[in-house]
Amino acid sequence: MLPRSLLLTLIFVLSPAALCGSALAQPFSENQLTTAQRLMDQALESDLGYEIVESLTTEVGPRLAGTEAESRARDWAIAMLKAQGFENVRNEPFPVPLWVRGVETAAITSPYPQPLAITALGGSSSTGPDGVEAEIVAFKDLASVEALPDGSLKGKIIFIDEPMTRTQDGSGYGVAVRKRRTTAYEGVRLGAVAALIRSVGTSTHRFAHTGQMQRLTEGEREGVPTAALSAPDADQLTRSLKRGQPVRVKMVLTPETLPPSESGNVIGEIVGSEKPEEIILVGAHLDSWDLGTGAVDDGAGVGIVTAAARLVAAENPKRTIRVVLFGAEEVGLVGAKAYAEQHWDDLDNHMLAAESDFGAGRIWRFETRVHESKLETAQAIGNAMRGIGVGPGPNTAYGGPDLTYVRAAGVPVVTLKQDGLDYFDLHHTPNDTFDKIDPADMAQNVAAYAAFIYLASEVDAHFRGDEE
Ligand SMILES: [Zn+2]
Repeated sequence: MLPRSLLLTLIFVLSPAALCGSALAQPFSENQLTTAQRLMDQALESDLGYEIVESLTTEVGPRLAGTEAESRARDWAIAMLKAQGFENVRNEPFPVPLWVRGVETAAITSPYPQPLAITALGGSSSTGPDGVEAEIVAFKDLASVEALPDGSLKGKIIFIDEPMTRTQDGSGYGVAVRKRRTTAYEGVRLGAVAALIRSVGTSTHRFAHTGQMQRLTEGEREGVPTAALSAPDADQLTRSLKRGQPVRVKMVLTPETLPPSESGNVIGEIVGSEKPEEIILVGAHLDSWDLGTGAVDDGAGVGIVTAAARLVAAENPKRTIRVVLFGAEEVGLVGAKAYAEQHWDDLDNHMLAAESDFGAGRIWRFETRVHESKLETAQAIGNAMRGIGVGPGPNTAYGGPDLTYVRAAGVPVVTLKQDGLDYFDLHHTPNDTFDKIDPADMAQNVAAYAAFIYLASEVDAHFRGDEE
């Protein structure tokens, strides 16, 4: 037996090596790793992902959930998946609420009359064609508004000038998005006539960022008419207020909530050659906001996962690769919920899932959310991507918004984490257009997804605990 002190020294010396993976068993054969490398090389030489986004954004353009444009996007997706050789191509329909944008204008009427750049938030109520004009009351954040007693802003327009922090991983979004979701309803409680928020975004351009408000549950009153201001306009309004006189703003918003419509999830598969019942799901969302052409959100994801799966098809993967192009993500994860419900009885056969929905920036980290006992195998998939700049990440992956419900139901997920430093400059604005995508960055994304899809399909292991 070794003396205790020596044993501790050995553990101390060995453990960093174990963390690096060099001392661990390699679940993949030389052949499999060579194939993964060849797929990445092919992806880096290919423009397929880029061409798919070009086609979607040009031939369909903006595609708001539940509209005729989103229906055309489904037709486009079905034709595209068939042309790329996918099997079992189909649309799985579901109902969706329908809200459409109308007129949206705002202006300071006194003491410094001038127009303001705004856009209505998804789900906003209407001011009517004559609009509303009232005095602005400004707050630094949502919490300050929530702290006010009921009825204390009667006849006013609420203005929340809360900025969003720019980060590589997009972590500033979660905090900033709360005011987009709930300010309209706080407005009702406080007796306000309308609300303005600083856009949830990191841009300094003069486009306001739209986005969905929290959905009403039955019996709730709709919120006050609510719009986002572009960042320079939020600054301008704040400067006007600092001069000490009451500032009045006129807003006209005429969006409409129409009778419920239909959306759908479009699916294409490469049927597994050895374990066809076992599914590797790769997703993206097909719908977009109506202001831009949805290139980075989420045309890029559609191009990335489709092109990657297409490349892997030539390798005759063992498991079924299922590409899911979700509908109605932007308006409240409606397609994500429909998918989980429609496939509930088959979720145990979903081995691993990933969604690309964070733009077209390069992938820099491979994150997992698998059972502890399967972590080594899952990380070995990520290790195969090191040559294209992908490092290891934590075992707390989010997976993507459209995987919210399947993840909650126990499906293991991974995140191929993209660089999102600039993502919220474009997100949900008219400026989200095809020219913003770099073809070399797209190709790197396709390369990482191709390696992931292939290796996840080849490995014998599943990624849950053995008792599950
Ligand atoms: Zn998205």
